[in-house]
Amino acid sequence: DKYKDGLTKTRSSFSSKINDLVAKYRKVDEDFFEDLEEILISADVGVSTVMDLIDELKLEVKRQNIKETTQVKEVISEKLVEIYYGDDDEAVEELNLQKDQLSVILFVGVNGVGKTTTIGKLAYKLKEEGKKVVLAAGDTFRAGAIEQLEVWGERAGVDVIKHSAGSDPAAVIFDGIKAAQSRKADVLLCDTAGRLQNKVNLMNELTKVKRVIEKEIPGAPHEVLLVLDATTGQNAMSQAKTFSAATDVSGIVLTKLDGTAKGGIVLAIRNELEIPVKFVGLGEKITDLQSFDAQAFVFGLFA
Ligand code: GDP
Repeated sequence: DKYKDGLTKTRSSFSSKINDLVAKYRKVDEDFFEDLEEILISADVGVSTVMDLIDELKLEVKRQNIKETTQVKEVISEKLVEIYYGDDDEAVEELNLQKDQLSVILFVGVNGVGKTTTIGKLAYKLKEEGKKVVLAAGDTFRAGAIEQLEVWGERAGVDVIKHSAGSDPAAVIFDGIKAAQSRKADVLLCDTAGRLQNKVNLMNELTKVKRVIEKEIPGAPHEVLLVLDATTGQNAMSQAKTFSAATDVSGIVLTKLDGTAKGGIVLAIRNELEIPVKFVGLGEKITDLQSFDAQAFVFGLFA
C-alpha cells in the first residue's frame, strides 16, 4: 500500500469514525445517513460532493435491499471511487510528457504550499525513471526562492537555470528552455512566483510566461500543475478557483496529506473542480511524492 505511512492520520480518524457509526446504528436509516454525512464533511470531502454521495448511497442501498449498516461500508468505498472517477476509468492520471521533444511543466501556487519541495521531489522521481531534468528558477519574487530551488536541484542531482532576484521570470524560463534544449533534456520544471494579493499581476505574469514558452515550443507548456496544501482545506479550494480563473490548470499536486486527518479534500477537488489530482505529497523527504491513484487511496481509507 503506497499511501500507508502518509495517510495514517486520515485513515485512523476516518475508519474509526465509520466503524463507530456502524456499531452505533446497526440498521440503515435516516439518522445513520445524517451521521455519515457529518463524518464525510468533517473529513473535508466537500459539502456538494457529500450530498451527491449520500444520494447515490441511498439509491444503492434501496437497489441492493441493504438493511444492516455492516453491509454499507463496501458500498461507501465503491461510491467514493465512482465519484472520483466520474465517467473516465483511467486508474492514474499520468503526466503529459512528450516522447521526442522537451516537455515543459509549469508550477503555480501560493507561497508556503510546498511548490519548491514538490519540484525537487518530481525532479528526483523523473530522474529515477531515466529522464534528464532541468529546473528553471522562475520565482524571482520571494526572498530565498532561488537558493531554495538550487538546494533541491543539488539533492535531486539536476541543473538549475537562474537569474538574480527580482529579474523577469519570463526571461529566466526562456533561458531555461534554451539550456534544456541544448543539454538535450527531457523535462523542464519551471517554478513561478506565488503571490495572490494582486490577482491582475498574477494573471499577467502567468500569461506572459506561458506566451514565452508557447512561442519557443508550440503546444507547451505541456502541464500547468497547481500545488495546494491539503492542511488548508477550504482555502485550498478557493486557491484552486482563483488559479484556474487566471490560467488553464491541467493538474493538481496536493501536498502535506501526511499532516492532515482530512484527506477527503482530494475527492472534493476532483469532484467540484474537475481537475485531476496528479500527485500527492506525503512528507518532507525527496521520495515522499506519489502519483495519485483514487482507488488505492479510497481503499486505503477503509483499510
Ligand atoms: P513553497 O513556498 O510553496 O515553495 O513551499 P516549500 O516547498 O518551501 O514548502 C513549505 C514547507 O512545507 C516546507 O517546510 C516543506 O518541507 C513542507 N512540505 C512540502 N511538502 C510537504 C509534504 O508533502 N508533507 C509535509 N509534511 N511537509 C511538506
